[in-house]
Amino acid sequence: MADKRDYYEILGVSKSASDDEIKTAYRKLAKKYHPDMNPGDKEAEERFKEANEAYEVLSNPDKRAQYDQFGHAAFDPTAGASSGFSGFSGFSGGGFSGSGFTGAFTGFEDILGSMFSGGFGGSGFGTGGRTARANAPVQGDDLRYTLTITFEEAAFGCKKEISYRREERCSACGGTGAKAGSETKTCTKCKGTGTINVQQNTMFGTMMSTKPCDACGGTGKIIEHPCDSCRGTGRDSKILKVAVNIPAGIDDGQTIRLGGKGDAGYNGGADGDLLVSVRVKDHKKFVREGFDLYTNMSIPITTAVLGGEVKVPTLSGELKYNIPAGTQSSTTFRLRDQGIQKLQQQGKGDLYVNVTVDIPKHLTEEQRRLFEELAVTFGTEHGEGSTLFNKFKKNKKK
Ligand SMILES: [Zn+2]
Ligand SMILES: [Zn+2]
Repeated sequence: MADKRDYYEILGVSKSASDDEIKTAYRKLAKKYHPDMNPGDKEAEERFKEANEAYEVLSNPDKRAQYDQFGHAAFDPTAGASSGFSGFSGFSGGGFSGSGFTGAFTGFEDILGSMFSGGFGGSGFGTGGRTARANAPVQGDDLRYTLTITFEEAAFGCKKEISYRREERCSACGGTGAKAGSETKTCTKCKGTGTINVQQNTMFGTMMSTKPCDACGGTGKIIEHPCDSCRGTGRDSKILKVAVNIPAGIDDGQTIRLGGKGDAGYNGGADGDLLVSVRVKDHKKFVREGFDLYTNMSIPITTAVLGGEVKVPTLSGELKYNIPAGTQSSTTFRLRDQGIQKLQQQGKGDLYVNVTVDIPKHLTEEQRRLFEELAVTFGTEHGEGSTLFNKFKKNKKK
């Protein structure tokens, strides 16, 4: 006991510190070293116990006076005996013996738990907040469902039936958890509030704290005969089928919220929602960007040169379109309003068609003869006379 630290030193206050100073210093240390804040930290645990011990003595005027006069020996029967303070053996008999302290420590920890959750807003000390609301209405959980639809279904809208599992109120007992015909009584211990106030007499004086009621488990109700179907939980997991209206124009990654289709609420709380997140499959021909569509098509070389009617693919079938004469490869045409219906708006996006001129790889003899005749008229025969060849030569001379 000789190397025991001084109680004032432990709390970091002077010997003339006021009761308030001692209290403030102690609270700071207790919060800092509380086991809840330092899980598994032996050093912190020791500091916490040390601070408790110091505070127990210094917060009590009688004990503080004894400590001021006799130091640790005042509370240590062995120290008292060996150093000749036999006259003070009465103190140990009065409950200040070593064993008396140990008993007090465990008590202290309990009280601190509730004191902090009440007094310091419950931050970081866990259980206080949730259990105190046990009997309040709580909204049911939101559920998520991923629905995959085709490109066309997204563009034109559709109706899909989906089934999923959700927690509902037990139909046998209507969610009360009590067997039909039996009564659910209001818990007498907590008077239906689900929480009880605990009064404890401590070194700090009388402390009040709130705990979940142990008689009803925090529900505020006592079920005498639990419902057979739900075993008293009042809840039932069921497969629910719902029809989902997919609006035209919905895009990949968007979510449709079905209010009240999630898990049932607790204690009269509202039901959660079902969040249907939509995945849209890719299309073979079209790429979507916003409400516009993009596609590629090839046109015959003769149409590119002479112009003419082609059939353009759209989401709702083929459409006739006049290609102007002299269309180059990689030209993009815009077909207004041939895109996707705008989601919950008037109007449609556009369709962009990128054309590639199809250069024939295999020609019949006649086609070949005609191309050769054409080549002469364009002055593009192979060899020295060709325009490209001459251009190349000119560039080289420069
Ligand atoms: Zn039931
Ligand atoms: Zn109760």
